[in-house]
Amino acid sequence: MTDSRVSNIVIVGGGTAGWMTAAALAKTFGQQLSVRLVESREIGTVGVGEATVPHIKLFNNLLQLDEVEFIRKTSATFKLGIQFNDWRRPGDSYIHGFGTTIGRSLGLLPFHQYWLKAARAGRAGPLGDYTVHTLAAPRGKFMTSASDVPANSPLADIGYAYHMDTTLYAPMLRQYAEARGVRRTEGKVAEVKLRPDDGFVESVVLEGGEVIAGDLFIDCSGFRGLLIEQALHTGYISFSDWLPCDRAIAVRTESDGAPPPYTRANAQAAGWQWRIPLQHRTGDGYVYSSAHISDDEATATLLRNIQGRPLCEPFQLRFTAGTRRKLWNRNVVAIGLSSGFMEPLESTSIHMIQMGITRLLGLFPREGCHPVLAERYNAQLKFDTERIRDFLILHYHATEREDTPFWRQCRHMSIPPSLQDNLDLFTDSGRFFRNAEELFAEISWVQVMIGQGIVPRSWHPLVDQVPEADLYRFIADVGRVMADCVEVMPTHQAFIDRHCAIARAG
Ligand code: FAD
Repeated sequence: MTDSRVSNIVIVGGGTAGWMTAAALAKTFGQQLSVRLVESREIGTVGVGEATVPHIKLFNNLLQLDEVEFIRKTSATFKLGIQFNDWRRPGDSYIHGFGTTIGRSLGLLPFHQYWLKAARAGRAGPLGDYTVHTLAAPRGKFMTSASDVPANSPLADIGYAYHMDTTLYAPMLRQYAEARGVRRTEGKVAEVKLRPDDGFVESVVLEGGEVIAGDLFIDCSGFRGLLIEQALHTGYISFSDWLPCDRAIAVRTESDGAPPPYTRANAQAAGWQWRIPLQHRTGDGYVYSSAHISDDEATATLLRNIQGRPLCEPFQLRFTAGTRRKLWNRNVVAIGLSSGFMEPLESTSIHMIQMGITRLLGLFPREGCHPVLAERYNAQLKFDTERIRDFLILHYHATEREDTPFWRQCRHMSIPPSLQDNLDLFTDSGRFFRNAEELFAEISWVQVMIGQGIVPRSWHPLVDQVPEADLYRFIADVGRVMADCVEVMPTHQAFIDRHCAIARAG
C-alpha cells in the first residue's frame, strides 16, 4: 500500500508570502511536514508592502514572536489608522482609526447613531472627536493598552497595527523558519512538471536541473503566478472596472522628523499617494490609473510631494486589481500576490496572506488534495476578497470630486450590488451590519462612509427615546473622556524611544 499522506510541501517564492507561510507551517506542524522553499535572489521580491492592519498581531502571536524584537528587527512604527486627505473633496480630511468601537455604545445602539442626531442639531463635533485613535493620531500621540486603568477606559483597549520595513520582515521569518527545519534552496524555477493523469503538479525543475518533487505546492511567486497561472492556467477575475488604479511608483526617502502613528493616503489627480513612516526612513508611493496619467507625470507628482531626500531611484510596479479564479487549484495553493492583488489603499494584502495561511491550516489535507477542501478554501477566500473589494471601492466611489476625469469616472461608475446594498442601508438611517467574518467591522465602514460624505437621512428610532438634553450631555461626556485620554498619552516618538527604538549608528 502506498502512503498518500501529504507531507512534502514545496513553497515557490521567498517574499513576505513565502516566508510567512513557511514560518507558520514550521510552527504548527513541526517535523510532521517536510517544508522546502525555493527562491531566487536574482528575481528578488516586490519591495513594497509596509503598512498592515491590526490582525497581523494574531499572526505574530501564532509564531510567538516577541513584539519588541519584531519591532526592532523590522524598524517598525505603530499605526493607529489611515488619514485620508482630499478624498471626499480637496481640502477635506478624515481618519479611519482602528479599535473596536466609536465612542461608547448606549443600550442597543452604537455611538454613531446618537452622534447622527446630535450632529444634525449642530451639537456634536466631527465623528473623529469621539475615538481615541482618531484624536491621538494627528496629535502624534500613541501608547499600547494600559493595564492600570478601569476596564471600560478607552485606554484599556487600544488597537493598532504596524508600519514595517518589508525588506526586513521576510528575512526575520526566514531565520525563524530555518531554525524550525524549513529547507531553503536558492535557484530559479525553470519548469513546472505536471502529472500526466490528473494534471497535478509533480515537481518544479530549477535552472541547474535539480528536480524538487512535492505533494502540495504553495505558489508564492508573486505577480507572475508561476504555478497557479503559468502552469495551471487558472484564470484571473479583474476588478479594474471598479478599482481603476493599475500602477504604482514607489520611492524610499529619508525621515523628516518624528514618525506619525498613522499612514497617510493623499488623493491625487489620478489616484493617491501613500506615506508610510518607519523608524529609519519613510516609504512613499503614488498609486495611479495609467489611463489617466502618464508614468512620467506620476513620477513627477510623487517626487514633488515627498518630504525627505530620496534614498533610491523611484521604481514602478504594475498590476491589475483582481483575484485568481481559484486560489487552490489541484495541489497548488496560491498565497500572496500570485493569488491576486486589489490595491494597497487599506493595507489588506499582507492580511490576505495571513487569511490564506489561516484558511489553509484549517483545511490542510491529510491524504491527497481532495477537491472538497479546495472548494471550501476557494469559497472562504472569495468571501474575504469580495468584502475587502467593496470596502476599497467605497473610498473611490463615495466622493464629491469631479475635478479630474479620474474622479469623475470613480464617482459615476456602477458598483457591485453588495456595496450598493450597504450604501442604501446606511444612507437610509446610518445602519451597518458586519457580514460574518469580513475583515472590516462596523467601526471601519462607518468612519469611511461618514468620512467620504455619506450623510444618512435619519437614525435608528430608539435614539429618540433619549431626551435631547441627555443625548447632548452624553455626546459631550464621551468627547471629553476621549480628549482626556489623549491628553495623558505620550507622543509616538517618546513611546518608541522608551520601549522599542532601533539601535542607531553613532
Ligand atoms: P514577491 O515579494 O514578489 O515575492 C515573490 C518571490 O517569488 C520572490 O522571492 C521571488 O524571488 C520568487 N520567484 C519568482 N519567480 C521565481 C522563479 N522562477 N524561481 C524561483 N523563485 C521565484 N501589502 C500590504 O499589506 N500593505 C501595503 O502597504 C502594501 N503596499 C503595496 C504597494 C504596492 C504598490 C504593491 C504592488 C503591493 C503592496 N502590498 C501591500 C502587497 C505586498 O507587497 C505583498 O502582498 C507582499 O509583499 C507579498 O508579496 P509576495 O511574497 O506574494 O511576492
